Amino acid sequence: MNKKTNILLLPGDGIGPEVCSSVKEVINCLNNNTEIDFLVDEDLVGGCSYERHKVPITDKVIAKAKNSDGILLGSVGSPIYESLPFELRPERGLLKLRKELDLFANIRPAKVFNSLVDASSLKRDIVKNMDIVVLRELTGGIYFGEPRGIENLSDGQRKGINTEVYTTNEIIRLGRVGFEIASLRKKAVHSVEKANVMESGVLWREEIHKLKEKEFPDISLKNMYADNCAMQLVKDPKQFDVIVTGNLFGDILSDISAELTGSLGMLPSASLGEFGDSKKRKSLYEPVHGSAPDIAGKNIANPIAMILSLSMFLNYTLNFKNLSDLLEKSVEETLNRGYRTKDIMQKNCNLVSTSEMGNLITENLETLLIKNEI
Ligand code: NAD
Repeated sequence: MNKKTNILLLPGDGIGPEVCSSVKEVINCLNNNTEIDFLVDEDLVGGCSYERHKVPITDKVIAKAKNSDGILLGSVGSPIYESLPFELRPERGLLKLRKELDLFANIRPAKVFNSLVDASSLKRDIVKNMDIVVLRELTGGIYFGEPRGIENLSDGQRKGINTEVYTTNEIIRLGRVGFEIASLRKKAVHSVEKANVMESGVLWREEIHKLKEKEFPDISLKNMYADNCAMQLVKDPKQFDVIVTGNLFGDILSDISAELTGSLGMLPSASLGEFGDSKKRKSLYEPVHGSAPDIAGKNIANPIAMILSLSMFLNYTLNFKNLSDLLEKSVEETLNRGYRTKDIMQKNCNLVSTSEMGNLITENLETLLIKNEI
């Protein structure tokens, strides 16, 4: 096992510090019961950084992020900062991190835990055992393409412009991550675009096909138009393993897949960049949810999305798949025993606080680690 691992922990705002307390407990447990030595450096991002330094992230924190083996981020944002200029708002801290580290691959797993199958808005048979990943390109496409803007026309009308642009390299580096993820799962990729109406989609399709033929002949590849993919996700989501797509379509499809699980407090995510000098990818792991100002400070937030973000870090950055699986199993067993935070509470279950849920999962993990002699 690779022993020393530097984590930059950025709890952020709202419920971020609460869910990060639980993740710190899990990290301590891993430090005490495995050969990994996590060195955690904690710092500020978002509104709390603005309060202290008058910027949502300092250059010092960006430098620390670049030198770390991975970043764990809680959440940023609060309505109290809404009147600030755009560049000083908490969310800018997160966007700057993503940009500075060139985190181009956003991985959003959507897994339905058996004990929570009724939380989905879809029928239980459709989502039972669902386990899919949406891989979204995060730094290119129509959200960044030029030309863009709003123009005044001579006839008094206005014209809004955004441009979908992808280069071969951008498509290939994302596609490679998608095929690699699929190779650790059910070995099936759906590449999603609109090649029927967009040239950028034609290029996307051609490059992904070439990549599969050249580097991943064992992975199955199907193309799907984005509109059909949205429909198929609510009709038969279990047909998918890994969906690989651009920024715009990924934004929409990952929200649909998240909703299929029915519980925002359960969803982790990862954003990966290129390999660094240490041969590890630059990486940022965070829950999908925001800072939930309505419940912040009450010790009732669900810490599972944050804990599963650490599980993704173990898998995708550190390549400790067995440890990642064990952590996920300790979450699943805690749910199977009927423990629930308020957001996922069901009849005949035991309501627990954020810290209690963190304790229960950590205790479970410790037992599993000792039993499995890892
Ligand atoms: P949100 O995700 O914070 O909350 C939406 C709803 O889900 C709320 O009712 C909240 O109580 C609930 N919820 C969220 N996470 C939960 C958890 N772990 N356990 C239990 N319930 C949970 O979204 P929002 O209200 O639209 O945004 C609030 C703030 O968060 C805004 O300032 C927004 O900009 C920011 N935000 C940040 C991120 C991020 O840090 N990546 C993502 C989304 C939103």
